[in-house]
Amino acid sequence: MPSREVLDALKGALGCDQVLTDREDLLCYAYDATADMPRHLPEVVVTPRSTEEVVQVVQVANRFKVPIYTRGSGTNLSGGTVPTRGGIVLSTLLMDKILEIDHQNLTATVQPGVIIQDLNDAVACYGLIYPPDPGTVTTATMGGSVAECSGGLRGLKYGVTKHYVMGLEVVLADGQVLRAGGKTVKNVTAYDLVKLFTGSEGTLGIFTEITVKLVPAPEARRSMLAVFKDLSSAARTINGIIAAKVIPATLEIMDNMTIRTVENYARVGLPMDAAAVLLIEVDGIAEVVAREAEAVARVCRENGGELTEARSDADRDRLWAARRAALPALAQLRPTTVLEDATVPRSRVPDMLLALQEIAAKYNLRIGTFGHAGDGNLHPTILADERDREEMQRVHQAVDEIFRVALELGGTLSGEHGIGEAKKKYLEWELGPAGMDVLRRIKQALDPDRLLNPGKVVD
Ligand SMILES: Cc1cc2nc3c(=O)[nH]c(=O)nc-3n(C[C@H](O)[C@H](O)[C@H](O)COP(=O)(O)OP(=O)(O)OC[C@H]3O[C@@H](n4cnc5c(N)ncnc54)[C@H](O)[C@@H]3O)c2cc1C
Repeated sequence: MPSREVLDALKGALGCDQVLTDREDLLCYAYDATADMPRHLPEVVVTPRSTEEVVQVVQVANRFKVPIYTRGSGTNLSGGTVPTRGGIVLSTLLMDKILEIDHQNLTATVQPGVIIQDLNDAVACYGLIYPPDPGTVTTATMGGSVAECSGGLRGLKYGVTKHYVMGLEVVLADGQVLRAGGKTVKNVTAYDLVKLFTGSEGTLGIFTEITVKLVPAPEARRSMLAVFKDLSSAARTINGIIAAKVIPATLEIMDNMTIRTVENYARVGLPMDAAAVLLIEVDGIAEVVAREAEAVARVCRENGGELTEARSDADRDRLWAARRAALPALAQLRPTTVLEDATVPRSRVPDMLLALQEIAAKYNLRIGTFGHAGDGNLHPTILADERDREEMQRVHQAVDEIFRVALELGGTLSGEHGIGEAKKKYLEWELGPAGMDVLRRIKQALDPDRLLNPGKVVD
C-alpha cells in the first residue's frame, strides 16, 4: 500500500471515486497485452478527467517521489504499461472526449482516452478518415497509440501515427503543461517537440490533448486475395507490386501456419494448402484504383499467384476479419504467444522470411508469420508455454536472433510496437553508445527523478 499521505493527497485532488486501491481493481493493471512479461501490482490507480487533475496527480507524485505509469487500454505489446516499480497507474479512460472536429483545417482534437475507432466514426460524416489503424483500432486509445507511434494495416500508403500528430498538450514530469504544435500545416518553430513526444512511451510526459490530421476518405477501394504455392513467390510479388508503381493502402502476408490456424479459428474460406497469401487493398480515385487493381492482378499472375477479388462489402469484411484474426487465432494454439515486430527494408522481406523459417527450425519452435509485408513490418509469432523453462530459453534465443538478423538486413527493432520493457536490452545494438547517450540525456533533462514510466525504453 502507498503511504497514507500519498493516498490522502490523491483523494484530496481527485475525490475518492477516482482513486482505486482494492486488490481486485489493482490486479487488472498489473499486466498488459505483452506475453512473457512478469506482472507487478500498482499501489494505486487514478482516473483523472481533465488536464488539471493530471497536473495534480503529477504534483503528488513529485512531492512523494512516487512513479506514474500512464495507461490507455493496455493493449501494447512491449510491456509498456506494467508498473514494474509499483506506484501510481494513471488511467486515461475517463478522458474520452472528442473536443473538436475542424473540417476546414482537416484536424480533430481529442482527449487521450478516446478510442481510435470512435474518432473515425465521428469524422465519417464529414467524408474524412484518421488513417492509423492498429489491429486494436476498436479498443486502443489515441493517447496510447500516439505514445507508441502505432502503425497498422494501412501504414504502407498512409504512414504511421507520427505522420498525423500535429499538436500535443503534455503534462511534464514537474507538473508544467506544455503545448506544442497546432493546426498549421507548416510549423518549423524550434526543435520538433511534437515528434519528440510522439513515440515516447509514457516516459517523457503525459498527453492530455492531441490534435491530429484527417484526410479525405477514399472514394473507391478494391480488396484482393492472392494465393501462392511457395513463400518466395509471395515475397517477390510484394516487390513486384511496388516496382509497378502501385502503393496499395494495405499489403499483408500470412504464411501457411497462420492461414491454417485462422481458417480453423474463423472459417473465412482461406485455402489451407497455400504456402502464403497476400491480402491487398488499393484505394483512392475510382479510375486510378481500377488501373492499380489491374496492375496488382498482373504482377500476382506473373509470380504464379491465384487472385480473387472481394465482390461485396461482406466479402471485403470477411477478408480483413481473416487478417485481424491472425493473432487471436495463433494465440489459442499454445498458452504463450510471443509476437515480435522486427522490420526490414521492403526489398529484404524475402530474406527475412527465409531467416524466420531457419530460426524456427534451429530452435525447434513453432513460428507463425503474418504482418504488414508491404512496409517490411513482419510479425513472427512464436507459440510456446511459459511454464516450460527449457522451451522459453529457446524462445529467448530465437528472439535475440530475429532482432540480430533484422538489423543485419538494414532493419529496425520495432516497426510499430515500441521498445517498452521487452526490447530495451536490444536498443544499443541499433543505436550504439552515442544513441543511448542521447536517449539517456533526453530522459534526464525531462524527468530527472525518473517518475514517468521508469524502467521503460531506457534505464
Ligand atoms: C491483437 C493486437 C493487435 C495489435 N495490432 C497492432 C498493429 O497492427 N499496429 C500497432 O502499431 N500496434 C498494434 N498493437 C499494439 C497496441 O494495440 C498499440 O500499441 C496501441 O496503440 C496501444 O494503445 P493503448 O491505448 O492500449 O495503449 P497502452 O497499452 O495503454 O499504452 C501504451 C504506451 O503508451 C503510454 N501512454 C498511454 N497513454 C498515454 C498518454 N496519454 N500520455 C503519454 N503516454 C501514454 C503508456 O505508458 C505505454 O507506454 C496490437 C496489439 C494487440 C493486442
